[in-house]
Amino acid sequence: MLVHIKDLVKKTEKGKYALGAFNTFNLEITLGIVKGAMEAQAPIIIQISETTLNYAGVKAITHIVKTIAKNQANNIPIALHLDHGKSFSAVMECVKAGFSSIMIDASNLPFDENITVTQKSVQYAHRHGVWAQGELGKIVKEKKEIEHLVQHPEKFLTDPDQAQEFVKKTKIDALAVSVGNVHGVYKLEHKAPVLDLKRLAEIGKKVDVPLVLHGASKIPADSLKKAIKLGVRIINIDTETRHAFKQSLLQSLKKRGEYDPRKFLSPTIDAVAKVIKEKIIMFGSAGKV
Ligand SMILES: [Zn+2]
Repeated sequence: MLVHIKDLVKKTEKGKYALGAFNTFNLEITLGIVKGAMEAQAPIIIQISETTLNYAGVKAITHIVKTIAKNQANNIPIALHLDHGKSFSAVMECVKAGFSSIMIDASNLPFDENITVTQKSVQYAHRHGVWAQGELGKIVKEKKEIEHLVQHPEKFLTDPDQAQEFVKKTKIDALAVSVGNVHGVYKLEHKAPVLDLKRLAEIGKKVDVPLVLHGASKIPADSLKKAIKLGVRIINIDTETRHAFKQSLLQSLKKRGEYDPRKFLSPTIDAVAKVIKEKIIMFGSAGKV
């Protein structure tokens, strides 16, 4: 069933665990996410990025998630969230489509402009009873950026004092932080990202909103557990789900002479579900429905 994100996040504070926020792109990945969550009996966030809205269309992808949440997820609470909204129009579109949470990511802008852009989306979301997540510090993705991050972390990582000011001025409900976490596939082939837990602890002390850890694929369980203790309440997983989907599909496509897409797409559902269940157990949200 679809619920408001605030109801899910509220419970994480008492239980000291984190919600998994999983990206979907299509029917099979959505079914896989829900299957994994049902097996683990966990509340989850299903998120759709602005690039996926452009790929699938807001109505099509939203209806897939809503219909599965209502009909197949039984009593598993699911919150629908816009991931990395870059434009105000995407924020409006998702609020109108019934999302209970949006993200406005203006982290590529200078600090004061990030505040201004974020404020506008937060005000709009709040007028409609929707939660808003902002991002401060840059969560990098490309190989070159990651190498740059290693050499000059201060250019990318969230500054605790700025975080305090950012939350106060924008009135966001959740803050995405950059503490060594990175997006994308680079980390699959290279070393797992190392979290700056000291910085995370300082941020946690300075702000009173839940912290969101993006790019958490491949981060080891013990680091994630420490991050949860320091105030991370939402953990985003995308790369590892994509990887599981792709590997499953490649395997199925090896069978020559198979022309039924259902035959090679259905194993991807189980492959995705397996990753989701593992992550949920790692985040401590299993059995928390
Ligand atoms: Zn992200």
